[in-house]
Amino acid sequence: MEKAPHIAILPSPGMGHLIPLVVLAKRLIFHHNFTLTFIIPTSGPLSKSEKAFLEALPSGIDYILLPPVSFDDLPDDVRIETRIILTVSRSLPSLRDVFKSLLATTRLVALVVDLFGTDAFDVAKEFNVPPYIFYPSTAMLLSFFLHLLPKLDEEVSCEYRDLPEPVQIPGCIPIHGKDLLDPVQDRKNDAYKLVLHNAKRYRMAEGIMVNSFKELEVGAIRALQEEEPGKPPVYPVGPLIQTDTSSAADGSGCLRWLDDQPCGSVLFISFGSGGTLSYDQLNELALGLELSEQRFLWVVRSPNDRVAVASYFNAQSQKDPFEFLPKGFLDRTKGHGMVVSSWAPQAQILSHGSTGGFLTHCGWNSTLESVVNGMPLIAWPLYAEQKMNAVMLTEDLKVALRPKVDENGLVGRAEIARVVKGLMEGEEGKGLRNRMRDLKDAAAKAISKDGSSTEALAELACKWKNKIST
Ligand code: UDP
Repeated sequence: MEKAPHIAILPSPGMGHLIPLVVLAKRLIFHHNFTLTFIIPTSGPLSKSEKAFLEALPSGIDYILLPPVSFDDLPDDVRIETRIILTVSRSLPSLRDVFKSLLATTRLVALVVDLFGTDAFDVAKEFNVPPYIFYPSTAMLLSFFLHLLPKLDEEVSCEYRDLPEPVQIPGCIPIHGKDLLDPVQDRKNDAYKLVLHNAKRYRMAEGIMVNSFKELEVGAIRALQEEEPGKPPVYPVGPLIQTDTSSAADGSGCLRWLDDQPCGSVLFISFGSGGTLSYDQLNELALGLELSEQRFLWVVRSPNDRVAVASYFNAQSQKDPFEFLPKGFLDRTKGHGMVVSSWAPQAQILSHGSTGGFLTHCGWNSTLESVVNGMPLIAWPLYAEQKMNAVMLTEDLKVALRPKVDENGLVGRAEIARVVKGLMEGEEGKGLRNRMRDLKDAAAKAISKDGSSTEALAELACKWKNKIST
């Protein structure tokens, strides 16, 4: 009897990459009867949250940790994207060993990587296993990488932030060069070269799944699906988000606290798995929340002037983050505010009836989790492609408010109080909420039984199942 088709998934480091790939994996085993192995490149021990997350994987999903690669030769200030991409490329020898043993025991029909994992394609090709990408970000970013970045790199000589006109990504709202993702902001940095290298290799994929859906990104998806020689087919399969409760214990008791709050009254504040604020900004945010007199639940992380380097690989704050809050803040906000250190069960918080708004760093998973729950936003982008997401959410979809940064580069307490009140009790907030509800309905439809995203994934699953063993 022929073995069940098996898929290998290789996530590049970061919870924001791992979480949606696991959701994809669950769909593939429960809806399409695949078996599956996560092959995880590492550069050191896993973070506490990664470990808990992997240990809670359902049966049917195996995982193998590759031996940690060394970064001894890299300078301390190396960009995060360089570390992520090199973690994958330096793991190729051990990936090759895993492939050998998987091919001996399973019918391996595909390798799936994410946006930074295309170096692993070389191993897949060596073993004749078709390579695919699961894109855990926007169709807009995919369109930028696939259609525009290689062209810009050839035609433009200055830094993109110095371009006089916004760039026109096919099918998207115009974006100023300064709002493009971080690693393309310094073309001399290795991170730029590595990201460009990956973008150019996207065309080697036999197909690209993107965690988005037509109604959310009409233009970008249409542009991606226009046929063009050498362009892989693009499958919008989203929104794939984590919804189950198994992996997220409520250690802080914040879900119980939410149970006691009035319906739709609480603003949730979180900056993803890597976001940290400077000390001054943390202080302004605390005082702004207090000034707004709204209920809030805030995931606080110790301040750091480099927004996402130290914490991205380990979201747990090294010091007690509450020590950095303004004096007396916890006492003064007791009752209507709750703070949680470093990590909270976000998926459950966003689906809780007491939560009425989300101040977010605009990471794509957080954005999709908000869409699925119809949660209006305050957009506070920090790193990666989050500024692009914030432009889409505020100016195109109009489901988010964006606070203004003052001349000192800070969002001041009065501005924070203004947007928080505007979202939670103002007329403007109502409009955002209504538009988010429409997106929520469209998202539910896309992943329903006959929805567009369900059908796109089924089409791909069928292609994989029909792959003849080599
Ligand atoms: N997350 C969480 N608790 C936290 C912070 C983050 O559960 O305290 C989850 C969040 O629900 C999302 C993911 O981690 O699924 C973060 O991904 P996103 O793309 O939003 O941001 P990134 O961490 O990649 O910047």
